Amino acid sequence: MTPGAPQGDPPETLGRLAASLRAAFRAAGLDTAALDARILAAHAAGVDADRVVLDPERPVSPEEGARAAGLMERRIAGEPVGRILGEREFWGLAFALSAETLEPRPDTETLVERVLSWCDARGGRERAWRFADVGTGSGCIAVALLCELPNARAVAVDLSQSALVTAQANAARHGVAARFSAVCGDFADALAPGFDMLVSNPPYIAPQEREALSREVRLFDPPLALFAKDNGLAAYRRIATEAGRILVDGGFAMVEIGAAQAADVTGILIAAGFQDIAVFQDLGGRDRVAGALRIAK
Ligand code: GLN
Repeated sequence: MTPGAPQGDPPETLGRLAASLRAAFRAAGLDTAALDARILAAHAAGVDADRVVLDPERPVSPEEGARAAGLMERRIAGEPVGRILGEREFWGLAFALSAETLEPRPDTETLVERVLSWCDARGGRERAWRFADVGTGSGCIAVALLCELPNARAVAVDLSQSALVTAQANAARHGVAARFSAVCGDFADALAPGFDMLVSNPPYIAPQEREALSREVRLFDPPLALFAKDNGLAAYRRIATEAGRILVDGGFAMVEIGAAQAADVTGILIAAGFQDIAVFQDLGGRDRVAGALRIAK
């Protein structure tokens, strides 16, 4: 220490706080250490994450420092940043989360993009689309679509009443509640025919793959949203049957799939009488979405 320098720790600043979280996250082997540190340091201090870079000398109070230490422990224990913040961005919109809702994934934006391009090819975005979102969770898919399809109406179904409360709040937050109906039910059981499209990010992980999942997913995403019997395919069988029942002729189903499930899901959709089946890849080049048209029998 330089003689005459002040004793004790230097006063805490936002920049130093973020740096210490980053070092702890790196030591814990987190691969998004710097980003997580910026977000959580800023959250503890009650400021936007960009302040860490723009205002690194901002003082941090002991209370803010203590809060940051608590958040840091949770992250090191595997809790994802989105869960800690209680919300996650999807399609440029912030979605509140609860224990009953899957944390939205960027991969699922591929589903939204593909649905929109099929809408573009079938009457356009202004059409009064009527769609069902089966297993809506946080409502992220339905709300993102309602924001892009100004005359659409969504029926969002979930088995979890608590997830529906979160989804409804997210619809209100983004100004689409008047076109969003939440229905508690098992797949589309509770829905009458007459839908132009059915969208879903169903559970599709085989239960035996549980141990291979990251802690972030295994410990913090709701099992109901992750796992499906029959090697992860059970939900697709239900959805294909239900979609055949509730979709109008010329309507379509678009579902998220696991990277190794394209052939199986295609087979399930064909067996249920769907046509023009298409598989689309996510930004990582993995099969992620299957779409299918319902043609009059
Ligand atoms: N895509 C998620 C994951 O791999 C799983 C979500 C799901 O089963 N629908 O973690």
